[in-house]
Amino acid sequence: MQGKYDIIIVGSGLGGLVCGYILSKKGFKVAIVEKNAQIGGCLQSFRRKGVNFDTGMHYIGSMDEGQILYRFWKYLGLTETIPLQRLNNDGFDIISLNGTQYNIASGYDNFIQSLSQKFPNNEDDIKNYVKRVQDIADASPLYNLKKIQNNVFLEPDYIKTSINDFIASTTQNPVLQNVLAGNLPLYAGVKDKTPTYIHALITNFYIQSAFRIIGGSNQIADSLANSIKHFGGEIFTNAEVDKFICDSEKATAVILTNGERLEAKSFISNVHPQVTISKIDSPMIRKAYRTRINSLQNTISNFTVYIKFKPNTTPYLNYNYYYYKNADVWAGNDYNPEKWPEQFLFMHQCKEKDQKFAESAELIAYMNYAEVKQWEGTTVGHRGEDYELFKKQKAERMLQELELSFPGIQNCIETYYTSTPLTYENYTKTKDGSMYGIIRDKNFPTQTLVSQRTKIPNLFMTGQNINSHGILGVTIGSVITCAEFLGLNEVIQEFYE
Ligand SMILES: Cc1cc2nc3c(=O)[nH]c(=O)nc-3n(C[C@H](O)[C@H](O)[C@H](O)COP(=O)(O)OP(=O)(O)OC[C@H]3O[C@@H](n4cnc5c(N)ncnc54)[C@H](O)[C@@H]3O)c2cc1C
Repeated sequence: MQGKYDIIIVGSGLGGLVCGYILSKKGFKVAIVEKNAQIGGCLQSFRRKGVNFDTGMHYIGSMDEGQILYRFWKYLGLTETIPLQRLNNDGFDIISLNGTQYNIASGYDNFIQSLSQKFPNNEDDIKNYVKRVQDIADASPLYNLKKIQNNVFLEPDYIKTSINDFIASTTQNPVLQNVLAGNLPLYAGVKDKTPTYIHALITNFYIQSAFRIIGGSNQIADSLANSIKHFGGEIFTNAEVDKFICDSEKATAVILTNGERLEAKSFISNVHPQVTISKIDSPMIRKAYRTRINSLQNTISNFTVYIKFKPNTTPYLNYNYYYYKNADVWAGNDYNPEKWPEQFLFMHQCKEKDQKFAESAELIAYMNYAEVKQWEGTTVGHRGEDYELFKKQKAERMLQELELSFPGIQNCIETYYTSTPLTYENYTKTKDGSMYGIIRDKNFPTQTLVSQRTKIPNLFMTGQNINSHGILGVTIGSVITCAEFLGLNEVIQEFYE
């Protein structure tokens, strides 16, 4: 690693890579430094016994030509390189609530028709819900690649209303309310806190069209990395930033854990804000800012069982299965460990187009970091026998619960692997293994929004804590970060080319 860079990006998650792509394409001399051997953060996949498992990117939406992610991906060179499998149009998600299954269909007319069959007395409510969700998405300029006027990114009403209040205002039917909120593991929604816009933008995103990535989400990271190198950028792995070095006015360098020093004119951190500021020892980061950032709560973490099936035993499911043992989808964040898991998300992995049998699947349930805190500070593979036992017991409980929905499935499993909140904390340094970073709270809308700007004028943040999480939220967050170098409407213009 030599020379002085225009911009050093710390972390090669989706946010770091998209910023790296935009800025290197625009001629900046960019270096990305990644602590892991593999790039991608949550885009990483891992292979065991010849089978691929994704860790944090299972399905995406709005990928039909002209739709919003398609437009971003076209610019990012991903539409040609990433193979996709369309999920079932008549039910890309199935919400299993208290023993009854509800199909969430692609396309708004289809969505209305499908749910109205289950809730014939609530057809008008469903239409009203759909209209309001579309209105929210239409009113968000960055989600439509519209130029920003007067610095308005979102209508204040949608920031200050909770999802549950919003849904309750569209229908009084409690079952329908829960079905409409049934995709909330996609954003780890918290009742009376998570703002409406998060639900509306994500729901709109997937109803437009929904797809699995064939062969692993790591291809997204690899494709972006290849393009960045093609544009002259550099990517260094096994390069963990230990400190940001500042003079009295600005950041000047990063120091890696191996002692190496890298200098740049500007810096972007793709690392969780609470972790980022812990690496800065400068009076420019005032105590009040540090306290505010450190006081922000994070979304819950998860426990995942990565399943390898015996060959040709399990028909491939071309949909995602959201399971709620009881009628209240909001109960997951405050789960009772004795009764866990009363909710989970089950997804088959897609290996090839129109496949007949599933090779692998993932079974994900919320888990608090507190459950694994006793093993904090231990390293991967050396956490001890009690940790292994803990994982085995949790996995067996999840598989027993899965069996209730898919009788006989346990007999089809050849082997399985697991991850805990410690795994995510270790691999991505997301605080407490949090799935989606800081919780946005409609009661404290400005306090829980993290700006891409820090108190250091040439150090910016990107990733899921800016704007929002997920493939679209992080991509738009990267646009917001890159706007600091290029101008917001100039970056938006890039996507029109
Ligand atoms: C279980 C799970 C399932 C998900 N499923 C989906 C899905 O189906 N669809 C969807 O759209 N979204 C999904 N998401 C959300 C999505 O994965 C994330 O919002 C997004 O990938 C986060 O990207 P990021 O750039 O913010 O950060 P990250 O992916 O967390 O990347 C941060 C990077 O910084 C690196 N780093 C950290 N510290 C340092 C350091 N000191 N020095 C150098 N590098 C460092 C890390 O190693 C990592 O590579 C899921 C998330 C989870 C957890």
